[in-house]
Amino acid sequence: MNCLTSEPSCKLFTPGPVKIPNRVMAASSYVQYHHRTPEFSKILLDTLNGLRPLFGTDQQVYPVHTTGRGALEGVYANILSAEDKAVSICNGSFGKMSADIISKMGISCVRCFESWTDQVDLAELEQIIEREHPTAVTVVHNDTSNGTVNPIAAIGALARRYGFLLLVDAVSSIGCMPFLFDDWGVDAVVTASQKGLMSPPGVSFAVLSPCSWEKIKNNSSLASYINFINIRKSIQTTGETPGTTPVSLILAVNEAVHMITEEGVEQVFKRHRALSLATKQALLAIGLSLFPEKCDARSDSLTIASVPDCVDTNNLVEHLRKKYHILIGKGLGDYARSSIRIAHMGAYQVEDMMLCIAALEASMLDLGYVSSIGVGVDSFLQKYNSAQQC
Ligand code: PLP
Repeated sequence: MNCLTSEPSCKLFTPGPVKIPNRVMAASSYVQYHHRTPEFSKILLDTLNGLRPLFGTDQQVYPVHTTGRGALEGVYANILSAEDKAVSICNGSFGKMSADIISKMGISCVRCFESWTDQVDLAELEQIIEREHPTAVTVVHNDTSNGTVNPIAAIGALARRYGFLLLVDAVSSIGCMPFLFDDWGVDAVVTASQKGLMSPPGVSFAVLSPCSWEKIKNNSSLASYINFINIRKSIQTTGETPGTTPVSLILAVNEAVHMITEEGVEQVFKRHRALSLATKQALLAIGLSLFPEKCDARSDSLTIASVPDCVDTNNLVEHLRKKYHILIGKGLGDYARSSIRIAHMGAYQVEDMMLCIAALEASMLDLGYVSSIGVGVDSFLQKYNSAQQC
């Protein structure tokens, strides 16, 4: 099959990769740059600087040549060593993923809040920290598996009180929701290109605090491929990366960052909030229930809904794809059969989400799960319009 003569079969509403704007696609392939030229270094450094407001930091943002999981592994391998102990908050599939990575590295890892319905109870977390004395706590800002948002600012306050390093997976929140690396006292954060940065997958970005750098400097078993000492040296001295830079991905992210800056970071967050509230209202009106149950723990970057027992999620997702050319995410883990996941992270606009909701309603009607349609789109619009006024 020739990719230039065939059209993609569906519009993406999956929680990564997400819809890529034409501007971003065009920028990634418009001109070929060599990665060791002054012209490309300028674009790379411009991209890293442009990302700072999304991370809420004055620190340097560093590129990591791998997807989100690889960059998280790199951060853990650079910061932690055999004598360390981590506490990992596991209230979602990606929280558990970090715990698994750290355990496999042979580092002691205490798992907590292991149920997907758990919200972080700060008093309980404080007790665990007093008992375990961890070097680091790992947590996902926005767990894409179950749509749970964890309270990073409050965990940051504990980090300052108890002196552990706070390592955050913000793969599906950067660019969608406020993240304040400096103010919240975060020590390491990672995001990836294919979510809020509305680019193809394959490159990630990390920020590290002075405390993390101190730990990395003294780590005698530093990994060789993702080695933050080398990455920092290369960025600082030549404006380049060690190894061959994924040039087209950096060009894509550069354009995405410019689009975000043009719209205004606050406006981007406001758009995500309005689309999120409206999508959630629409799914409730269709008769689905939302996850997580607690409203203030719900993500702005995706909506997760539990479907009634009578609904076969595989059928529903396949029907949406085949008949209406809309691809949404199936549930993950324990919720694979009982939930659907709809992304509104990155470039989505009101018309995109209306299309998705309308197609979802139409599919529910086609499959006999509802007897009429329109209530979802109607509720979506009402909520969207009222959210716009806030
Ligand atoms: N963390 C979160 C919250 C994610 O949503 C994902 C991917 O969906 C990852 C980590 C892993 O990132 P990647 O698939 O880019 O390796």
